[in-house]
Amino acid sequence: MWSLLVFQQFSFFGLLFVCTAIDLILFWCSNGARERSSCPKFKQMFYRTLQNNFLLSVPLGLMAMYWLYDPPAQVTTDWTDSLNATMCLRLIAALVLEDALFYYVHRLLHHSWLYKKCHYFHHQVIEPIAMSALYTHPLEHLLLNVSPALIVPWLVRLTGQWLYLWFFLVNWGSVSSHCGFVQYLPGVQFHDDHHLYRTRNFGVLGLFDWLHGTASKGSGSGFVFLNDDQKLH
Ligand SMILES: [Zn+2]
Ligand SMILES: [Zn+2]
Repeated sequence: MWSLLVFQQFSFFGLLFVCTAIDLILFWCSNGARERSSCPKFKQMFYRTLQNNFLLSVPLGLMAMYWLYDPPAQVTTDWTDSLNATMCLRLIAALVLEDALFYYVHRLLHHSWLYKKCHYFHHQVIEPIAMSALYTHPLEHLLLNVSPALIVPWLVRLTGQWLYLWFFLVNWGSVSSHCGFVQYLPGVQFHDDHHLYRTRNFGVLGLFDWLHGTASKGSGSGFVFLNDDQKLH
């Protein structure tokens, strides 16, 4: 249990600091061309990240790892033991389920009342950087980030090293979708467009945005299926 939590924390902060360093280097190299006048201060983002992580992610993660996942979450050094079709299918199911939960909860957060009370906080960031990934209202962090990430692997019964892979993917998705090096990573533009236009790209993979016709055209996601007459607004 503890090793999974330690891995989750190290992978999150490791990715966060590496992507933030690249964000800062690119910002300095562009001589501030990537203006973030409406972006909250970097220090505020860092403090909010620590609050959300240590007051919500860690305690709830511990609870899920203790009570939800199959104890003990054994990790074998031999991947061939567990690298089988069943676990691959479970991981794919987990990714689709995460996209669904993230999409519907995120759309709910765009309801005018919830947006004003809660989700506007994250949308103060117009041009995201990695450090803004957890710059959210605590309720949003609970509903949108923490709960699906913890419940989905339990629903599809991921075990052992697949849980480690899952938390790495979740952390990667959260940090990379907000990093500023849009042109270098596939999929970054997808969430960047959500911060810019707010009416498109509510999901993670883009699958449910495609199903509901809310994917923006040319968003850089692997799933861009909008009709030509659908315009950003
Ligand atoms: Zn965001
Ligand atoms: Zn939003």
